[in-house]
Amino acid sequence: MTDSPQIRSLYEECDVRRRTILQLLQKRGSIAVSDLTKRFGVSRMTIHRDLDVLVQQGLAQKRHGWVELAATPAPATAGSARCMMCQSEIPERTQFTLQLENGERLQACCPHCGLMMLSHRTGVQSALARDFLYGRIVNALEAFYVVESRIATCCAPSVLCFHDAASAADFQRGFGGSVLNYHETIAFLKQRHNPVLAAH
Ligand SMILES: [Zn+2]
Ligand SMILES: [Zn+2]
Repeated sequence: MTDSPQIRSLYEECDVRRRTILQLLQKRGSIAVSDLTKRFGVSRMTIHRDLDVLVQQGLAQKRHGWVELAATPAPATAGSARCMMCQSEIPERTQFTLQLENGERLQACCPHCGLMMLSHRTGVQSALARDFLYGRIVNALEAFYVVESRIATCCAPSVLCFHDAASAADFQRGFGGSVLNYHETIAFLKQRHNPVLAAH
């Protein structure tokens, strides 16, 4: 070791920052670079250097001023990227991912299957969906959904995910359907899948 203590502590600082960024991504799916510079009080360049390391490690990807959790499936599941619920192929646009506490990663074709999968699972660390308008990965539990719009997806009734209630409402004005939050969407899907059970 020839590094001076100052340089070593600088390395450690970067390391802690990168780990914190990764934890944030695992919880929230995506973050604006400007949020990160504010949170850590460092320059954009510093944040971009941290992000580049995470990108090189295959853990994250950058996208127009945002960074998001890498969407590529873990090596163990690569090649079998089919929906856990209905076995159909997974379109990138509507992809839904559950990260389990045991390290397993489960994928679904769209929020319809994703939310059904989520409602049957325990030990879920995070649930990530893709915003249908902007393509960003978002926390599925805090997202809003438009159900039964005129846009047909792989599964019926169609369920599309939006980062916030306002963009879901904008979409709903153009394409019909209803805007629901996460809990309401799960209740709606359960009702559709089993009207008799859901009534009790
Ligand atoms: Zn599916
Ligand atoms: Zn689907």
